[in-house]
Amino acid sequence: MPKLSGSRNKNLSIALYIAGLAVVSLFLYGTLFTRTYKAAEEDVIISDQPSGGDSQNSSDDPGSITYKTYSKSDKEPVTVLLDAGHGGLDGGNVAGDVLEKDINLAITKKIAQYLEEFNPNIKVEMTRTTDDAPWFQDEETDLNYRLDKQKETGAEYTFSIHANAYEDPSVEGTLFIVNPTDSTMKDLVSKIEENMEAVGWDGNYTIVDNMILQLVTMSDIHSTLIELGYMTNPTDLERLTNPEEQDKIAKAIAAAISDYIENNPDAPKYEKPSEESSASSSGSSQSTDPNAQPAQDPNAPASESSAADPNTPAPDPNAAAS
Ligand SMILES: [Zn+2]
Repeated sequence: MPKLSGSRNKNLSIALYIAGLAVVSLFLYGTLFTRTYKAAEEDVIISDQPSGGDSQNSSDDPGSITYKTYSKSDKEPVTVLLDAGHGGLDGGNVAGDVLEKDINLAITKKIAQYLEEFNPNIKVEMTRTTDDAPWFQDEETDLNYRLDKQKETGAEYTFSIHANAYEDPSVEGTLFIVNPTDSTMKDLVSKIEENMEAVGWDGNYTIVDNMILQLVTMSDIHSTLIELGYMTNPTDLERLTNPEEQDKIAKAIAAAISDYIENNPDAPKYEKPSEESSASSSGSSQSTDPNAQPAQDPNAPASESSAADPNTPAPDPNAAAS
């Protein structure tokens, strides 16, 4: 009997031991699982409230954005012109039944909405707020309308929103086209790039400053044309057309613009270089800029522009004249 009893006790201890192990492992698993889950969540979750300080250091956590809402200052607001590419008769690039002009408008309107929400010190203007682009007769009229709008509104910054296309569907990513001498806009677009990556638009980002693109080159203000992604790439197209993704990206872009303008009140206005210095500076940037790409690179916008995007015409600014 004692032997049996001892064996029972032993069995009981083993059972308890196993049960204990199970509880401990469940606890550990729970903790680890929760941690993993939270870490993953933090990569994409964004706080909607301003943190009210530098408590959250974005360089330690590149996966998150702190969205800040600013209060009205006494200073004159800075005017930002948002330009949804194409419109009306001009659909831009096409993927099946998806037209670029609609993607551009949807995202640009959301950028406007968030910019106004984040920053009362920014006055938002738009080249178009509907599909209507009644001025459009040809590329030149269209270009001039958009350039005139910069002057009319007194804008200091302009952002043209586009979606790209290329014959090779594996080509993906975002292009920021800026003027070679516009260091302010180069800074600003690098903030936009950081924010886009933070909301999961990972991929290729290229800042192109060696390309003659009329809308940017002929601007007298800080100007960029953003080709958000390639409609010819399935991943990019899905993101560009998904309303949740459109919202996410618009919010991230608006936050970058809002924060940059708020934090750089003394950023010098863009000075368009004279014809001569512009020629020499774009020449030098081609050889020194690490982001400059050779023309034959499939990612270079030059081939895309002449082939597919009517708003990024051939280098000669006079070529479009009939
Ligand atoms: Zn376009």
